[in-house]
Amino acid sequence: MARLTRRDLIKATGMAGALGAFGWAPGLWGQETAPKEAVKPAKKPAKAAEPAPAKAKARVIVVGGGYGGTIAAKYLKMGDPEIQVTLIEKDEKFISCPLSNEVLAGERDLDSLSFTYAGLAKRGISVVRDEITQVDAAKKTIKGKSGKSYEYDKLILSPGVAFKWGAIKGFDEAAAEIMPHAWKAGPQTALLRKQLQAMPDGGKFYIVAPPNPYRCPPGPYERAALVAHYFKQHKPKSKIIILDPKDKFSKQALFQQGWKQVYGDMIEWVPGAGGGIVEEVKPKAMTLVGQVEEYKGDVVNFIPAQEAGALAKLAGLTDEKGWCPVDPKTFESTKQKDVFVIGDACIAGTMPKSGYAANSQAKVCAAAIVALVNGKSLPEPSYVNTCYSIIAPNYGISVAGIYELKDGAIQDVPNSGGVSPLEASARVRALEVQYALGWFRNITADMFT
Ligand SMILES: Cc1cc2nc3c(=O)[nH]c(=O)nc-3n(C[C@H](O)[C@H](O)[C@H](O)COP(=O)(O)OP(=O)(O)OC[C@H]3O[C@@H](n4cnc5c(N)ncnc54)[C@H](O)[C@@H]3O)c2cc1C
Repeated sequence: MARLTRRDLIKATGMAGALGAFGWAPGLWGQETAPKEAVKPAKKPAKAAEPAPAKAKARVIVVGGGYGGTIAAKYLKMGDPEIQVTLIEKDEKFISCPLSNEVLAGERDLDSLSFTYAGLAKRGISVVRDEITQVDAAKKTIKGKSGKSYEYDKLILSPGVAFKWGAIKGFDEAAAEIMPHAWKAGPQTALLRKQLQAMPDGGKFYIVAPPNPYRCPPGPYERAALVAHYFKQHKPKSKIIILDPKDKFSKQALFQQGWKQVYGDMIEWVPGAGGGIVEEVKPKAMTLVGQVEEYKGDVVNFIPAQEAGALAKLAGLTDEKGWCPVDPKTFESTKQKDVFVIGDACIAGTMPKSGYAANSQAKVCAAAIVALVNGKSLPEPSYVNTCYSIIAPNYGISVAGIYELKDGAIQDVPNSGGVSPLEASARVRALEVQYALGWFRNITADMFT
């Protein structure tokens, strides 16, 4: 019972819970008088560097305007308006991965998932379009593709993930144009949707799931369900086969129950131990070479193994596995001082790599930087996540978690969180879809307004 009560609480409080948990009061710290020694004089800008206004208390640059970066920039500015905040993003608009599986199902278009940065600019955040290609942590300078350099006092990176091209023989960037990953929303999503539309009824659609850890643990399984929703209406004789290197996955019992209930035998999951491991890809032949047999598909969605976004690697922030170790109280890199890493790219204990987790980490990181800049003690962090999955337009499930800092690591709060019950009424399943859509409206409003 306690599990459900806590879980319901997270859902009821949503984003507000994430804030209240570590005592965020927008604007409060900004109104405090900073101790003199904490006030840094604005450095003279280097040639071609972005000028810092004389009154800036500190210059914080955030790179990556996605689920983590937008929130870090916004909450820094809200926490202390005297901090000069710059958000650097390579793309003109952001396209959300959450709900992009609905695009594959033909239930929405990419425009409904696209956002500009105008709302953040209105808050006094300097929004710059550039792709950062160099980080000089010793000189506290970064450089972009534009040729411009930017100086910072503190740098936050939220670059998302990069794909490990070539980890499986035959799967490289060119192969992804034939067997799209659609794991970064945009042209790849549109390509996969087009292929699914062109597939004949009775065709075979393969999803190759990635190994752990990766962005959005329930994502491949939600994708199977939503594509099945499309097939059920337009190509009912078709099959969906998930080849998985893993032997278990997020919300497994709930997914398998939902697949069966809504789509009968249309979806088949092949675990690693049952022949799901793919060892080679032959894109031109649309063939996946497994450990046991070869699989030939009409459409193949190959989701590659992942690591921290390329920027994190080139900044020297990654470990031997390709992810960024951080101090969980601040998200400061353990490898470079005054550089912070949030979102998918960082190692955040038991938190999954999700947009909600990135949001929560961004708030902890922003609160820590506001405290550091103002010479105050660090707030005690708390972290939260919920991942909704839509199995059909009236059938949703979720997993929720609350985390604490314990023994120097982010860990689950005992007896908190949990997953949707296996026994639930149709009304509860339908309500979870409404929660998912409400979550998306709230989190994107938090990010972009
Ligand atoms: C199909 C799918 C469904 C998903 N569903 C959900 C869901 O329902 N709920 C949920 O919580 N999460 C979901 N996720 C996961 C979620 O998308 C990610 O966890 C989240 O985007 C991570 O945030 P981030 O800030 O780390 O990275 P991102 O949101 O990817 O942001 C990274 C940003 O950095 C920019 N960037 C990268 N490098 C540079 C550079 N060098 N210079 C300038 N800019 C740069 C990129 O352009 C991008 O805008 C889903 C993911 C997928 C693939």
